[in-house]
Amino acid sequence: MKILVVGSGGREHALAWKLRQSPHAEHIFCAPGNAGTADIGENVAIPAADLGALVRFAKQNRTDLTVVGPDDPLAAGIVDLFAAEKLRAFGPTKSAARIEASKVFAKELMRAQKIPTAEASIFSDSGEALQYCERAKFPVVIKADGLALGKGVIIATDAATARSAIDEMMNQRRFGDAGRRIVIEEVLDGTECSLHALVDGKNYLLLESARDHKRALDGDQGPNTGGMGAFSPANNWNTKLKAQFEAKIMRPLMRGLLEEGIKFQGLLYPGLMITSEGSRVLEFNCRFGDPETQALLPRMKSDLLPLLEATIDGKIDTCAIEWDTRATVTVVLTSGGYPGKYETGKSISGLEDAAKLEDVRIFHAGTKRADGQIKTAGGRVLTVTALGLSVEDARERAYDAVSRIHFESCHYRRDIALSAIAANVSDLS
Ligand code: AMP
Repeated sequence: MKILVVGSGGREHALAWKLRQSPHAEHIFCAPGNAGTADIGENVAIPAADLGALVRFAKQNRTDLTVVGPDDPLAAGIVDLFAAEKLRAFGPTKSAARIEASKVFAKELMRAQKIPTAEASIFSDSGEALQYCERAKFPVVIKADGLALGKGVIIATDAATARSAIDEMMNQRRFGDAGRRIVIEEVLDGTECSLHALVDGKNYLLLESARDHKRALDGDQGPNTGGMGAFSPANNWNTKLKAQFEAKIMRPLMRGLLEEGIKFQGLLYPGLMITSEGSRVLEFNCRFGDPETQALLPRMKSDLLPLLEATIDGKIDTCAIEWDTRATVTVVLTSGGYPGKYETGKSISGLEDAAKLEDVRIFHAGTKRADGQIKTAGGRVLTVTALGLSVEDARERAYDAVSRIHFESCHYRRDIALSAIAANVSDLS
């Protein structure tokens, strides 16, 4: 099969790496890819946002399957465009992708199915939202309805912060139309967990659990980022929570989508807050997580390609996934200054040395090959994953590999998965 992977991050490198191992994979294209994907297959200089060019490329090159990494092309309807040309693509249609692209849509769906989530009010009028702040109990979470590059969620501790967030989103349109409507909801207390599911329109198959680290600095300080690290399995997940999750979240969600007439096919991953009263949904994502994918796929023993195919064909109920029982820890290396301003074009050294270590996988994100060298080309530069007999072991191996990689102004968190080693190792039996 000829496979096209759309995107250029660590997630896409991990997907391409895993798909390359399939005996059915003949050639992998990555659009636009990075220096890591160039070693696995062929990079194609088409941005993930240029849907028309991607369709033309897939047609001309007779690709058998396209796997879409990022949320934006899914929300823009890339799968619908491919389907119109009878091209197979893994991911939800534009209508189904609303589960991530519209927080109002997701909230209404959850309400209709009584899926546990934060209590929320929805506003399309800034005056009403501002009035609501006069009587609200703080803190509250303010969310732009649409996609806002991970910046559309503000935790407001007082009325003044809430008012300025509402004004920026709804009146100044900082995120364009994404802020036409907003959701204001209660703050949930607990620990977060990511659950990935392959959903085929009727049935779903869960992947292993993972946790990510969103803040830029150690101790969960600093600004939110796309993700600074992850580990799998999650230490706050267990069989009891999984049973509750299936009964109270996944099955009602499947029913809700059916009732809305939406056939969701692709990867659906609810971000959960595990509270003292059980799991609550923070958000739904309609694609693989980044960096969770880099922590999950090295643990997956099964061939990913037939699983993606079964998802598209509505046959995921006939599949099972075999997992490596070992743990993974993934550390993200960024350009200094990310998620704010940063410089690129720095030479990266030590990659070969790090890659030689046993059970270490290096996935590239913002990298490119120039002048015979690998150079930085983005905010998140590399993700380093290690497998280990325990999270502690995986963590040591991951940081050993990280210590061998160098580029000017390299930044990474030193405390990825540290909380999983402290006291509360959960019952995963
Ligand atoms: P979302 O895009 O809705 O997942 O929000 C991004 C991040 O904001 C989440 O991963 C949480 O860390 C945080 N967050 C969102 N909603 C809430 C909430 N109701 N209570 C506490 N934290 C939240």
